[in-house]
Amino acid sequence: MRCVMEPQTEKAWLDVSILQCPYCGRFYADASWYVVELGAEIECGVCHNSFNTRKAIKDRVLLEFTLMGGLVMDVKIAEHIGPQR
Ligand SMILES: [Zn+2]
Repeated sequence: MRCVMEPQTEKAWLDVSILQCPYCGRFYADASWYVVELGAEIECGVCHNSFNTRKAIKDRVLLEFTLMGGLVMDVKIAEHIGPQR
């Protein structure tokens, strides 16, 4: 008889902020520690204007990764944190 083991899964989380370039409207997703904690300036890859990431936050979510042996099997929104400025 074959023993069918339930695959062992692990979880990992990433706090992500959604940004919008105030000049051309292009959206970006970046790690929230970078955006919220540092409030770093970034250059838009489309219009090449620089803007402050903290002021450009449109939304913020906590992503939950389902891992199997360290490989990502699935991603979902674990928590909708919402925009905070
Ligand atoms: Zn832009």
